[in-house]
Amino acid sequence: MTRALRTDRLRTFAGQIASLVDQHAPEAQLLETGGAHLRELIAHDDWLPDAFAQPDPERYQQFLLYADALQRFSIVSFVWGPGQSTPVHDHTVWGLIGVLRGAEIAQGYSITPEGELREEGDAHRLDAGTVDAVSPRIGDIHRVSNAFGDRTSISIHVYGANIGAVTRSVYPAGGGRKTFISGYSNDLLPNIWNVSKEPLVS
Ligand code: FE
Repeated sequence: MTRALRTDRLRTFAGQIASLVDQHAPEAQLLETGGAHLRELIAHDDWLPDAFAQPDPERYQQFLLYADALQRFSIVSFVWGPGQSTPVHDHTVWGLIGVLRGAEIAQGYSITPEGELREEGDAHRLDAGTVDAVSPRIGDIHRVSNAFGDRTSISIHVYGANIGAVTRSVYPAGGGRKTFISGYSNDLLPNIWNVSKEPLVS
């Protein structure tokens, strides 16, 4: 018998982020407290429906899991096929990244006063269960890659906007920047509101 998905975990997390945003918490507090909530969410791998965990052979996928009605934040699953990697990109808003399955490699970048892209510190590995943060205040440009060449990795992100609709930049190897709007890989969202059908959890 298959166990019912614990969709309540995603609903609880969305509520926790909504509360923080409602309180107009300063960004540092939002990242710290929100990061603790995200760590709690990714500590269990029993809630993400399979439809939002599917890699694509061509490119990494960004599935919208939840969007705030006022577009103050959004929650996505990022699914990397073996060896897949993002371009160097920014976010323009705060973001938290928590690895649910597999592992990822993140390399931060900064722009020099001459306008050149420079690696910022060493690449760091994010294993399942760990959380990273980005924002224009603490460092907003990075490249993220699947740490594995032979399996899928999945991370859960929360951003301070409807991230799929935000105009952002990628930084090509040859210099300069190009704007992009990521959109989402899915048209339908998980139903986290079917409360009466959920198993009773203690
Ligand atoms: Fe990113």
